[in-house]
Amino acid sequence: MGSGILDQAVEVIKNYPLCDRCLGRLFASLGTGLTNVERGLSLKILIAMHIHSRIVAGEDAYMDLLKQLSINAGGPFLKLYRKLSNEEVPGRLTCYICGDRFSDVVEEYVEKVAKILRSYDVETFLIGFRDPVEMEEAQQEIVDRFRLEHWEKVKEELKREIGKAVMSRYGYRAKYEDPDVVVEIDPVRDEVRAVFPSEIYVARLRKYARDLHIDSKALYGNSIESVLSEKASGVFEAEYISIKPSARIYPGYRVIGSGLSVSVEIHSPKRRFRDVKSVEDALNIDPERYSLEIISRVRRRNIGELGGYIRRIVYRVLVHFDSECIRDKAVEDVAEKIYGLSSEVIAQRTPSRMLRWKYDYTRYGRVKVVDVLGVSRGLFEVVLVSDKNLYIEEVVSGDYGRTDPSVSSVVGCGATPVKIDVLGAEH
Ligand SMILES: [Zn+2]
Repeated sequence: MGSGILDQAVEVIKNYPLCDRCLGRLFASLGTGLTNVERGLSLKILIAMHIHSRIVAGEDAYMDLLKQLSINAGGPFLKLYRKLSNEEVPGRLTCYICGDRFSDVVEEYVEKVAKILRSYDVETFLIGFRDPVEMEEAQQEIVDRFRLEHWEKVKEELKREIGKAVMSRYGYRAKYEDPDVVVEIDPVRDEVRAVFPSEIYVARLRKYARDLHIDSKALYGNSIESVLSEKASGVFEAEYISIKPSARIYPGYRVIGSGLSVSVEIHSPKRRFRDVKSVEDALNIDPERYSLEIISRVRRRNIGELGGYIRRIVYRVLVHFDSECIRDKAVEDVAEKIYGLSSEVIAQRTPSRMLRWKYDYTRYGRVKVVDVLGVSRGLFEVVLVSDKNLYIEEVVSGDYGRTDPSVSSVVGCGATPVKIDVLGAEH
């Protein structure tokens, strides 16, 4: 017929009976602002017109093609054939792809989706559709056989048509980014269910309790994560709540000062708060032990940036020196030696306390000693900024020479970190 698309369309409907919609879907990415029904019907009309012109020009052989297309594609072909042949032919055969059931399927699921939406307090939705396998396979057979390129999946159109009908009839809004609920339709199992997407927040964590883990789920009551899951998830009607720190912090350390950024994920909340303050209130249920200050709500793909940004951690360490050794040293001299650590590159082998489960290798890093204060005999308070990769306890103790230099080695006395606080992080 002189056009690649028309030729393809003729070949398709010569071989397969198709409704307007299913024919249109095979050319879905051509022409905009059209429904697939309009696309399919337009193609059929154009082809019928072309055939008509040939028959008028005396090419009688086209009557056979017209008859075949009346049977497979109905509509414009059928009317034309009846008129030209005076022969009564049966109507179009059932659509090979959808079995003429497309609209019924849409109707069926519009009602089910609406019923689910009404049972929750939601305004926006997104429809997820599993492959309607039979229709998809039938369509794929045609796509492969005629090497079609501009088609779309059946489920894409089903999602779109169901969504449009739910919006116009029931007033809910379809939303691609961050909907209140995703309604998942599985046509094979005939199941429709609501899935509530996680809400993720970046927050500033301060941890006042020592021996409190941040993100160990299993430690009932002894991790912030378990406290949140047990006591806060009910407020959101969520499955559970998880928390991820941007740096590994040992449970024995407090996190004070400017705190540490964490991501807090509320899994499948059926109840959503539109304001951050309510979320914050719900999360802060044990103010003696920790606090969470929400910075912003984020998308999952942005969480990764959180940990990557942190390069150094600010620690305050209370160091106890071996009393026999430190007794004869002047406080100023000890302080000066500790400050001197700032100009060294520290080589640190995997701490001996971790060798049973961690690979032994040497990492290198630096610390910047910010403040040294003699607290009492043998006790010093040291504030330092450490590269994130260094283990701070061993930077103090030296770990039998495995970390070198260390606070212990520069002072020349055995040193133990008594208390460690995280004061903040540098990015
Ligand atoms: Zn169809």
